[in-house]
Amino acid sequence: MEREVIEQIGGWGGFRVMGVERREGSPPQVWIRLEPLESGPYRCGQCGQPTQRVHERVVRQVRDLPLLDAQTFLEVTVLRVWCEHCGGPKRMAIDWLNEHQRITRRLVKAITDLTRFMAVEHVARHYGVHWHTVKRLDKHALRAQLEPQDFAAVRAIGIDEFALHKGHRYATVSMVTLVDRSASGV
Ligand SMILES: [Zn+2]
Repeated sequence: MEREVIEQIGGWGGFRVMGVERREGSPPQVWIRLEPLESGPYRCGQCGQPTQRVHERVVRQVRDLPLLDAQTFLEVTVLRVWCEHCGGPKRMAIDWLNEHQRITRRLVKAITDLTRFMAVEHVARHYGVHWHTVKRLDKHALRAQLEPQDFAAVRAIGIDEFALHKGHRYATVSMVTLVDRSASGV
């Protein structure tokens, strides 16, 4: 019964809760064991093709958003499935966890949302994750925001930096001078 409630709250699609343990401390921790649904169907994480062939089972420790006052740790049994389409073992597709990540997608989102307003070290302390993890996610999010640009007509770029939030964070402003193609006859 308790496990069902946690499942409802957690929303780890395709997985069921096998156990929950709260460890008191400062801060407290909640550890949740998750197993993939035995019935599947499993999908290849690379191409999305369904498969039922399990190649390997690996237990991964994953961080999720805090539950009430507790830091949340997931012990997730992740399957490597055999994909006919890709021709080999691939990690199963998990809607809430990107491949090679040790934190859930929603925690990634929460962290990158906060890094817009707070310094990396403060976000890291707030969620109890490593500074390097937050830095990596912040860089990735910034890169994703930048659309590919056509710089073919650029003649000069000026760049300056200014401090935000009392010097904890810096922003960059750039000015682009374009070539007037019609005037130059290019
Ligand atoms: Zn595949």
